[in-house]
Amino acid sequence: MPRTIIAGNWKMYKTQAEAVEFLHEFLPSLDITPETRQVLLCVPFTDLLCLSKNLHGSRVQLGAQNVHWQDQGAFTGEISAPMLTEIGVRYVVIGHSERRQYFGETDTTVNQRLKAAQAHGLTPILCVGESKAQRDAGETETHIMSQLEIGLQGIDQTNLVIAYEPIWAIGTGDTCADTEANRVISMIRSQLTNPEVTIQYGGSVNPQNIDQIMAQPEINGALVGGASLQASSFARIVNYE
Ligand code: PGA
Repeated sequence: MPRTIIAGNWKMYKTQAEAVEFLHEFLPSLDITPETRQVLLCVPFTDLLCLSKNLHGSRVQLGAQNVHWQDQGAFTGEISAPMLTEIGVRYVVIGHSERRQYFGETDTTVNQRLKAAQAHGLTPILCVGESKAQRDAGETETHIMSQLEIGLQGIDQTNLVIAYEPIWAIGTGDTCADTEANRVISMIRSQLTNPEVTIQYGGSVNPQNIDQIMAQPEINGALVGGASLQASSFARIVNYE
């Protein structure tokens, strides 16, 4: 069975003070009995060091939201994998649709970032998903297959998480029907060589729909944006039945 991973993606939200305030409420309300359930917070770079110290000894692990493919160099504004691992970061979100849409991320750069993450022992969370136009044109499968084909070239599937995030469902409140998410995730799994890869669903996950989403047999977790910003809401999601 793939491991269950529930990850919060804070995007560009929370100063350090706000992050610490979140933890003070979130950590005591965690009730993750199943030992196999992993909880992650994927936070802005500036919050990582402080959260790393505050999460020490807890069941919550830390993720970044991007990583550069070189270890160091003249790449103004970028952060490398060794910089992340040094401060206790274990996961990194790569190829989120917002990076692809606003910052020119391509499947090729996604692939380079995945390789760098793995080379340094970080577990990448590769985000894939179709736009509304692609969905309406019946191109969901072909689009995702091409994202996977290029993105996963030369990638070790024993240290990999995939997040299926339909772009039209992100931040819209318009969750993908859980049966549809299950079907697409099953298609994604059929493209992989390792059946143990954790595949998450992301896109308007909230405390009301998490139980139904996690009841789907192919869905191994969630990548949660907006609903991970409030401690009580994210705790409810993480503690799903
Ligand atoms: P959302 O974001 O939960 O706010 O839809 C999910 C994501 O972008 O990872």
